[in-house]
Amino acid sequence: MLSVRDAEATILNAVKPLDNQLDVEFVDLLMANNRILATPVISSLNFPHWDNSAMDGYAVRYADLQYARSDQPVVLEVVEEIPAGYQPLVTIQPGQAARIFTGGVMPNGADTVVMQEKTHRQDHRVLIFIPPQPQEFVRHKGDFYQAGTELLPGGITLNATEIAILAAAGREQVGVFRRPKVAIFSCGNELVMPEQLLQPGQIVDSNQFALATLMREWGAEVILLGIVQDDPATLKEIIDYAIANADIVISTGGVSVGDYDYIGRSLKSLGGKVHFQSVQMRPGKPLTFATFPNCLYFGLPGNPVSALVTCWRFIKPAIKRMAGLSQGWGGNYFRVRSQSQLQSNGKMETYICGKLYLANGSYHFQASPGSDNSGNLVSLAQTNALAVIPVGQTLVSPGEEVVVLQP
Ligand code: AMP
Ligand code: MG
Repeated sequence: MLSVRDAEATILNAVKPLDNQLDVEFVDLLMANNRILATPVISSLNFPHWDNSAMDGYAVRYADLQYARSDQPVVLEVVEEIPAGYQPLVTIQPGQAARIFTGGVMPNGADTVVMQEKTHRQDHRVLIFIPPQPQEFVRHKGDFYQAGTELLPGGITLNATEIAILAAAGREQVGVFRRPKVAIFSCGNELVMPEQLLQPGQIVDSNQFALATLMREWGAEVILLGIVQDDPATLKEIIDYAIANADIVISTGGVSVGDYDYIGRSLKSLGGKVHFQSVQMRPGKPLTFATFPNCLYFGLPGNPVSALVTCWRFIKPAIKRMAGLSQGWGGNYFRVRSQSQLQSNGKMETYICGKLYLANGSYHFQASPGSDNSGNLVSLAQTNALAVIPVGQTLVSPGEEVVVLQP
């Protein structure tokens, strides 16, 4: 059976990242949070834009102050006052200084700032008792960033810091990758919407809510196609529509080996390349992955826990890669201590839902109660991590370390 690692490699290989010219949209900076920058940003501004003071104090000529001593202070004439936002007019001559404030533009002639705490002011003169370091407290033009070089690389997620940098560079809008389009539908004769009164044998289609929420969280644009009956003709029709309108299609249900599991057959009849229909993992074994010329298809098992686990494990990296993120597609893996006893049959890579939490300065994992049953949706509340038990291991005892995926 296909290992989880090989399944992931197959999926990531099949992902075509969005094009950084064709698949770009421009958004206002305040709408850019969590979007992915399409191309590198290069600014024509230097940072700082001009030499300026890092302190409130006096802009001086270092040469004047080399021999300052506490018993023999140097006395300078204060010839100008330079608050932030003011363009100095005077060139500082030997024996002169300018009063300057943080962010103020360094005047010509001065090369060093003496902080005001190290000075004594007398009318239009300032006394300085110890020599500063040459160039001290001057932020030089281009110290932080030189115009014409790369300010931000393409393929990164924009958050507060990057958005602030773009603003500082004078941008009002930024080019980001468009959102990947993800079509979602649920497959099963037993499924109804939450507002419907349950008839015997019926359950609510909770999967479309879980998946739509995750897709939006991961930056996708969701096309919700609702519930589809276990009927080959209807399925074929909906899949045909979905693959023509989305970059990724996710269905749940109908991928097992039961008599009503038609997804695999429908994909093949539409000309899809079915890469695999089972993975050596639990839950999630019947995961189906297919590709069409412009679309990836994930057929997830209908069990709510299986659907979530396979989505976290495989679809997140696929979406992030497609969306243009240059690295860090999957979640984070941690090695932490398990508070719970975790079991596996040793034959499948086993994923156990639970909570990763911080206690006394280190992280711990606690399995959700009832997490051994992949039909048990209600035990998943507050789940934020999956313990991963590798093939060949059957037990993690309380207090032992386990690898945890935080999707
Ligand atoms: P299937 O993968 O179609 O064999 O379904 C496996 C189990 O998951 C069955 O108990 C289904 O009733 C349940 N199930 C299937 N689809 C959904 C869904 N969309 N929401 C909640 N449960 C589902
Ligand atoms: Mg079914």
